[in-house]
Amino acid sequence: MSHFCGIDIGSTAIKIVIVDEKGEIEGQMVSASGSMFYKYAKESLGRLCESIGILPDQIDYIVSTGYGRKLFKEADETISEITANAIGARKAGEKFGLIRTIINIGGQDSKAIGLDEEGNVVNFAMNDRCAAGTGKFLDVAAAKLEIDVEELGEYHFKSTGTPLAINSTCAVFAESEIIGLLGNEHTKEDIVAGIHFSIAKRIIRLARRVGLEDVVYFDGGPALNAGLVAAIEDEMGKELAIPEYPQITTALGAALLAKDAYAMERD
Ligand code: ADP
Repeated sequence: MSHFCGIDIGSTAIKIVIVDEKGEIEGQMVSASGSMFYKYAKESLGRLCESIGILPDQIDYIVSTGYGRKLFKEADETISEITANAIGARKAGEKFGLIRTIINIGGQDSKAIGLDEEGNVVNFAMNDRCAAGTGKFLDVAAAKLEIDVEELGEYHFKSTGTPLAINSTCAVFAESEIIGLLGNEHTKEDIVAGIHFSIAKRIIRLARRVGLEDVVYFDGGPALNAGLVAAIEDEMGKELAIPEYPQITTALGAALLAKDAYAMERD
């Protein structure tokens, strides 16, 4: 049996997917990137292999992608996260129909990718200069509010008032804005909803630059936040397609590419 691995070394999290020769997922793992990307990526790969009963040496081909992709020396190939994301979305989003737009929010960047009817990337827009509208922004806000990022969705749906406007376009200033809102006795719920709508507005503005053609697929860690999903859908006026495991889409794309690259090498 053959095994192919995609490893997405993101700024915040390392995502690894191993697929078999049919492209079906055998195992997946999400772990923190921390400060030693290579060391943690290698350790995570070891743990994932152990969990599915194989040795890392039994993997036939590895493709790395993401911010830290060049650091993973064992990779047979590296690819851009845009390409990997598009390939992964086509597979993970099969049940939603033809995906024409991908919205990805990562730890430190956000992007929108436009695809043609064959699933090829035709254009993309990216914000990687500013933390506003990224997972980092949500992490900082949650820490200030003394809640976990996993709880943001819950807080969002408990908001009773009109979502508060978060006007700061910079994460650092947004932090002091949040402190000010708390000082004025606004509830955490209303602040969380305000943060989600402010991110939603930004990401929709970015996505409009590539066109917002249906089906719109949303992935990256923040796609696990149901409150943010609801805010984006509200701003966009239509539903998003979200896979069961949105954080691993790009790693899945890299694993599928590893499978195809291996087959081509042996032809
Ligand atoms: P990157 O590829 O840049 O490392 P990810 O796509 O892995 O980024 O996303 C990381 C972000 O996802 C974190 O900053 C965090 O805000 C968010 N996140 C991760 N897990 C959850 C969760 N269970 N609920 C809400 N947000 C989450």
